[in-house]
Amino acid sequence: MSRKHRIREETGNKASSLGVALSWLLILLGCSSPEPPQAPSPETEPAPAPAIILISIDTLRADHLGSYGYSRDTSPRIDALAHDSVRFTSAFAPTPWTLPSHASMLTGMHPYEIGIDNSYRTIPPEIPTVSELLARSGYQTAAFVDSDPKGFVGAERGFGRGFEVYQHSPHQPGLAQRFDMAATVDGALDWLKDRDPLRPFFLFLHTKSVHAVPNDAECLDPRCFPYEKPEPWQFRFISSDQAPASWTSPEDGAGQRYLWSLNAKILEGELDPKAYPEDRLDQLKAFYDAGIYYVDFHLGRLFDDLKQRGLFETSVIVVTSDHGEAFLDHSLFMHQEVYDPLLRVPLIVRLPNPAPRAVRADQVVLADIVPTLLQQANAPIPQHVTGRSLPWTSEANNPRTAGSLREIFSYYLFPRKFSYHSLALRRGDWKLIVHNPESPDRFRQELYNLAQDPAERQPVSGQPLLTEELRQTLRHRLRQAPVAQGAELLQQDFPNLEAIRALGYIE
Ligand SMILES: [Zn+2]
Repeated sequence: MSRKHRIREETGNKASSLGVALSWLLILLGCSSPEPPQAPSPETEPAPAPAIILISIDTLRADHLGSYGYSRDTSPRIDALAHDSVRFTSAFAPTPWTLPSHASMLTGMHPYEIGIDNSYRTIPPEIPTVSELLARSGYQTAAFVDSDPKGFVGAERGFGRGFEVYQHSPHQPGLAQRFDMAATVDGALDWLKDRDPLRPFFLFLHTKSVHAVPNDAECLDPRCFPYEKPEPWQFRFISSDQAPASWTSPEDGAGQRYLWSLNAKILEGELDPKAYPEDRLDQLKAFYDAGIYYVDFHLGRLFDDLKQRGLFETSVIVVTSDHGEAFLDHSLFMHQEVYDPLLRVPLIVRLPNPAPRAVRADQVVLADIVPTLLQQANAPIPQHVTGRSLPWTSEANNPRTAGSLREIFSYYLFPRKFSYHSLALRRGDWKLIVHNPESPDRFRQELYNLAQDPAERQPVSGQPLLTEELRQTLRHRLRQAPVAQGAELLQQDFPNLEAIRALGYIE
């Protein structure tokens, strides 16, 4: 039975019960019986629940999309979607890494509130995910993700809860490349074809096709490009003969290992990031951009299919990312810092027709997606959700207005082979970044005025009171215990927030 029909029947039953009770009351009071209860008119019924499609393009920094001002034509299909959507220019991830940011995107809470402070955590079982909440409202649910079951978007981390179908990569056996947007979209298209057309659906897609190659063994080309796509995609923005003969070495490895290795050398003082060759940096960006174009092409296939099914104009479609990627914008490669290229993510929301079109500057966060989707589905928003429904039409369309002046807390706590942590607090135009809070030798803090210095180049030194106030706010934020704590899949051996608190920064 469709949700619309069920709502009508439930409403009718409630109206009948109320009518019978009212009849008896009037009889007891000596009044005549009223007219038989009327069925509710169609005009008063809630609108049918729309289909909802949430697309997370892992590691996609906002400013490498055409619709966000990029000079390369990386994203023609996403840009066309953005044209008919509400596009948020100041959307932020809570962390620059996959697990906590997706946990926030799918629970509507800050990852710190649900205790995800190391790489082994799971989403606490008492915190429902948006898929569980939508399933309770009659949605059929499916997900196609680039993750192992224990991986950072894996079912065993709690992400699979509430999904009737939760398909991990590889989506097709025998693929040379493990993470492949082509296979992700193929899986989604097959599912769309076979789904129950009478029920609304929630479809979640997650792709790592923009991310650096995870393992040496997955290199498609003997040169082992750190960001690699099947030909001819790899050389969309650079010619093959411009590419170096090799990006791998016994010492540094290949793929993302190469980039991790560079980061370790930079942090240990063995490599000056300013000395990294400019032409190599340009080549890395060209390869990364090729991944965006590759994902964009396959998203176009999904959008075309939705149009053919008449679903594109009637669905809620959200395109976003869990974090960005750095190309020595500050000190490092990949995503281990809390500067804006790592935290500013695209957020494009296409609502059912007549779809509002807007470009909004309000500061919003990934946790805001869950209440927005529940609102669109006419589903109740649980009290524990701390994200706020995204604004479409309110007056406040400015980061400095009171309505959007929110404090945004971000952290990076994932040291892997070396120890580096950072915390950030954004309030309006100000942002305080604290590096290595647990280490007296390596502790450093930076205050930025983002209105005057959006690239975070020149820390402000003449604001001791504001710096201290933001630092106290950060401490206060970190002193608040999580409302729930998920299990750890494995025994953790990395420092977490508890360890940092014990070491003194967080009193
Ligand atoms: Zn990620």
